Amino acid sequence: MKIIDAHFHFADFPGFDDLARAAGHENTAAHLEKEYKRLGIVCGVVMGNRTLALEDRHYPPFMRYCIGLDRFVAAGTDHTQQLELVEAHLQRPECVGLKLYPGYNYFYVYDPVMDPFFELAAKYHKPVAVHTGLTATDNALLKYSHPFTLDEAATRHRNVQLVMCHIGNPLLESAIAVLEKNQNVAVDLSGLLEGKIADMPRFLKQKEWYVKTLAGWLEYAGLWDRVMFGTDWPLANLEDYIAFTKAIVPEEHWEDVFWKNAARIYQIGPLP
Ligand SMILES: [Zn+2]
Repeated sequence: MKIIDAHFHFADFPGFDDLARAAGHENTAAHLEKEYKRLGIVCGVVMGNRTLALEDRHYPPFMRYCIGLDRFVAAGTDHTQQLELVEAHLQRPECVGLKLYPGYNYFYVYDPVMDPFFELAAKYHKPVAVHTGLTATDNALLKYSHPFTLDEAATRHRNVQLVMCHIGNPLLESAIAVLEKNQNVAVDLSGLLEGKIADMPRFLKQKEWYVKTLAGWLEYAGLWDRVMFGTDWPLANLEDYIAFTKAIVPEEHWEDVFWKNAARIYQIGPLP
């Protein structure tokens, strides 16, 4: 079975080298390509951070990217330049979507100020991926990253595919309700693990309640054509992530979750 990593980060962020090492990896393209090959991961979607400059967004052929607005100020700002740059990215085949970070940047994704960005996503038929649920820093605000914010965005923008990153973890009940109600919402399962897990069977036993709860909500929804595998690399070990995902997704849905849904939603062209 081939695999698409529908959510990872590839940047020279401070701390990323240490995070990669803690997960048993190295934060380099060469190492990532070697590990992807070893594990059958044929493509990865970079969730963009930092600059919108076109020249800073060139990735190896096994990567695609979502252009990320992680320094975004929603209120009281002229977004003309950002919109121009986002559009130029979306015109590239290797740019497969837009990524928003509302919890960190203090805005609601359904705010009318975001409408022009959603209109661009609709124009180029590319999804808008949104960080949801818990945030990595304590100065972010959960009210902006709550899964329910995507309910209103999905309702306002029915012609746009939304991706609820991290399945709103740990707000799973809300996330599943939004997924079930809105056909134009998909989820990715990234960001649920950190570092390297020494003993996966033991970890799954220790986390039995959480694993069963997550698996239970996914099974309850039964919307396996809208659930995507993702690792949030460099935060987690890739091999651990595959094992963990296999533990929460029934085997008959592995092909969908591990690559088919990402290939369709992010329109990732011919795969090896
Ligand atoms: Zn991420």
